[in-house]
Amino acid sequence: MELEDILLTNRSALEGLPRLAEPLLDWYDRNARTLPWRENPTPYRVWVSEIMLQQTRVEAVKGYYDRFLAALPTVADLAAVEDDVLLKLWEGLGYYSRARNLKRAAMQVLAEHGGKLPASYTALLALPGIGEYTAGAVASIAFGIPVPAVDGNVYRVISRLLMSYADTSVPTVKAAFRRAVIPMLPNRPGDFNQALMELGATVCLPNAAPKCMVCPLRFHCAAHRAGCAEELPVKAIKKPRRIEERTILLVVAGEKVLLLRREAKGLLAGMYQPVNLEGALPPESAAEAVATLGGNALSVTPLRPAGHLFTHVEWRMTGYRVECAPFAVEGGVWAGADDLAGEHAIPSAFRGMMAQL
Ligand code: SF4
Repeated sequence: MELEDILLTNRSALEGLPRLAEPLLDWYDRNARTLPWRENPTPYRVWVSEIMLQQTRVEAVKGYYDRFLAALPTVADLAAVEDDVLLKLWEGLGYYSRARNLKRAAMQVLAEHGGKLPASYTALLALPGIGEYTAGAVASIAFGIPVPAVDGNVYRVISRLLMSYADTSVPTVKAAFRRAVIPMLPNRPGDFNQALMELGATVCLPNAAPKCMVCPLRFHCAAHRAGCAEELPVKAIKKPRRIEERTILLVVAGEKVLLLRREAKGLLAGMYQPVNLEGALPPESAAEAVATLGGNALSVTPLRPAGHLFTHVEWRMTGYRVECAPFAVEGGVWAGADDLAGEHAIPSAFRGMMAQL
């Protein structure tokens, strides 16, 4: 099937795309935001930034990025870091599998590439946690390799330029957008990819907010001409998140709270958490659960309910503070305020409950 048929656009619009590279780069040279990872874009720095920026806003990443790079300045440092230290550096960023994959990839880079990220799109793609977008971003920005890096911003900009009503959640359509971008890649592929993403992040904004009057591509944009930019891109409606009721127990002995490790696989794998039970349970069940662990509840006090959104799941949490005398729990730790601020990383999902300690 021809590209124009997949993208529901016309050939002349597609053939016009490469001519947009130059005005886009001119605009980027004058308007690029100053971001920590754009200074000294070594392969390692670009890689860490791209992983942090997955599903996380630029403003939220800035503080984490500098701290992470200061603690782990090289691939070898990352490969050797203790899991608890790594998770602590990541605490609050969410999607912790990204941090684990970073470490696994660093170990692989050390073992297979002498500690240097490979200057090859396919070799980057073979590393844990690196998909097509990230491989394209690192290859083009850090190594100048002419490959596209197509994220949600780019789908939006290109679908508007082409006035494409193709569904950008369909894999064949996504692949077609990648192919459409390839002829646009000029001599500065890294800057070009960043320019396209920057335009999507700061000018060609989602929903009803594109700032077409300041867009360097407005005279070439089919959707702007037709007045339908706000309708694009087309995305299938996402499935609603699965709702899970949980009951969180802050089991407290003196100044310390009981933390248990989550399972090594799945959501928030291997992280510490307070006692976390399935369902919305009454106070009697809280005391019974503590008895099962080997403790004796002296008092059970309800906490304010809290919630947390994961990608596919929503937790609705009932909570209790359970006072008891200290007792030994296999695999558990009693954490004081210093531990919570230090070595025991608690996922942000529990922040609403832990704040009531
Ligand atoms: Fe986006 Fe408007 Fe620019 Fe078209 S003219 S690319 S819709 S900001």
